[in-house]
Amino acid sequence: MQYITYNNTNIYNKTLTDEQAHNASLVSARYPVCLTDYYAGLIRHQDDAIWKQCMPDARELEDYSQCADPLNESHLSPVPGLIHRYPDRVVLLVSNRCPVYCRFCMRKRLVGSGDAPMGESELCAALDYIAAHPAIHDVILSGGDPLMLDDQSLSKILTGLRAIPHIAIIRIGTRVPVTLPGRITPGLCNLLRTFHPLFINTHFNHPDEITTASAHACSLLADAGIPLGNQTVLLKGVNDSIETMRALMTGLLTLRVRPYYLHQMDLVQGTAHFRTSVRSGLEIIRGLRGHISGLGVPHYVIDLPGGKGKVAVLPDDVTIRGNMLQLRTYTGEQVFYEDITALQE
Ligand SMILES: *Cc1c(COP(=O)(O)O)cnc(C)c1O
Ligand code: SF4
Repeated sequence: MQYITYNNTNIYNKTLTDEQAHNASLVSARYPVCLTDYYAGLIRHQDDAIWKQCMPDARELEDYSQCADPLNESHLSPVPGLIHRYPDRVVLLVSNRCPVYCRFCMRKRLVGSGDAPMGESELCAALDYIAAHPAIHDVILSGGDPLMLDDQSLSKILTGLRAIPHIAIIRIGTRVPVTLPGRITPGLCNLLRTFHPLFINTHFNHPDEITTASAHACSLLADAGIPLGNQTVLLKGVNDSIETMRALMTGLLTLRVRPYYLHQMDLVQGTAHFRTSVRSGLEIIRGLRGHISGLGVPHYVIDLPGGKGKVAVLPDDVTIRGNMLQLRTYTGEQVFYEDITALQE
């Protein structure tokens, strides 16, 4: 694995102006900056979609309006590194490192910080908690990026989880196929396939991230029988157009990756310059539904502040009056539909 870390005036030979370099060093003092050789290589020019996602920006420091932990994750942690918000599923923060630190990250407060969230004793405490709560059926490994762990550490966590009889499914949330695809090796896939049913949700945000290398990583995972989903964050200036989203979602399907969530950006400090209006997100969903394969249309979700959970929002395409529905089709036509069973209820 090769990493290119920030070295003050150059980030992977992308020469910065003096002002950019100065700002980058201020930002990196507060939030970690890290790129992979591979991901930086996808930058075609300054300020393109890849650049904006990974290069530090002075605006990260100008945003004091928001909270570092709006989802109240730290208060929903019964033991360190475990988030228990919904009764039947938990998030386990097993790593605080990522190959690339995304400038819009919702866990900006945690990623890249020196102390590992999951030491030996924390892992034991988390597994004990899960074992003691039979209502938990679904464990989501997150971070940071779980695939930043070596195979042996990952195997240990997965073995611990599989020893708990009430755990039905395991999910891994990872951006490694996008930012460090070489980490998806046949050896890793052979390890993961022994823990089925295991799902992976990856994180593509732009069609430029779909490359021969990322496609190969996804195909290795899919061939290991791992159902692949994708979570995209809606980002101003990166992917907030219907054309870009159509290309992204249909491109993902060709990788056997099923779009799962489109996230409205959380109200996390340091990320305001990426935030779009919910109205524009709804217009994007309207531009997908009916226009591309239904398999490629994600749920657009808002993760509510205070840890109240995710809510899926839809464009308002139905008006109900009694048993009469007025529906808007994907072409914009208004159609009446009689709900004949409504009268019998
Ligand atoms: C998103 C999330 C989940 C998983 O939600 P699904 O809708 O099942 O994908 C679970 N716990 C927390 C804390 C979450 O943020
Ligand atoms: S890979 Fe995920 S956790 Fe890591 S910085 Fe990017 S968004 Fe945050």
